[in-house]
Amino acid sequence: MKTDFLQHTWKHRLTQLQPAAEQWTPQHILKWAFDSFGASVAISSAFGPEGMAVIDMAARLRGPSLRVFTLDTEFLFPETHSLMERIEQRYGIAIERVYPKLSPDEQEQQYGEALWSRDPDTCCNMRKVAPLRQKLSELSAWITGIRRDQTASRATAGKIGWDAKFGLVKINPIADWSSPQVWSYLHEHGVPYNALHEQGYPSIGCTHCTRSVGHGEDERAGRWAGFAKSECGLHVIQQAPSTSC
Ligand code: SF4
Repeated sequence: MKTDFLQHTWKHRLTQLQPAAEQWTPQHILKWAFDSFGASVAISSAFGPEGMAVIDMAARLRGPSLRVFTLDTEFLFPETHSLMERIEQRYGIAIERVYPKLSPDEQEQQYGEALWSRDPDTCCNMRKVAPLRQKLSELSAWITGIRRDQTASRATAGKIGWDAKFGLVKINPIADWSSPQVWSYLHEHGVPYNALHEQGYPSIGCTHCTRSVGHGEDERAGRWAGFAKSECGLHVIQQAPSTSC
């Protein structure tokens, strides 16, 4: 979202709309997003169960003009690439793949071997946060599949709000859903999902930083195991003071 005036106008509108939007269904939120932003809104997804539910709902409303992008770190699982192909076929869309500036080889030359094992924040910043910032600079709003009960930093996410970190509107249609609600939606509508979910991987990111979890472990325990890190830095809430969430 380019001008200060536009940003100010949207922050004001969001503040007024937020209380009502908290009562809206995910489909209502998505319809509002497409009516408000047209081709300037896109879903950001790594194709977890939540993202798949949101993509399915959005595709039913928007058809093949739906925009979906993903941060391809070049360290994704083959199962994730396979799911992406299934999504493109099922919904008739072309997923926009966003790549980091440095290839894996260039990263190794500049930062040494296996940066993710020594400094995952720097690795995530280069391979996820910086490419995301670049992509979001083209958009007026982005849609995510985050849920409030996933991590502490997501607990205050509104269904709609101003994303002060990236300077655009952020839309979280299923912020108040639980994991069982998401899975019910997927099964009820026959939505495809990552094959790794059936092999003990509830949350899937890069191959280097994702492991399967044991019975009773938190669903994100397999992400950056051994580090005090639960987020890539994409969804850290940094809302402007003028918004209510
Ligand atoms: S999840 Fe791991 S490999 Fe992927 S960008 Fe972050 S630190 Fe690097």
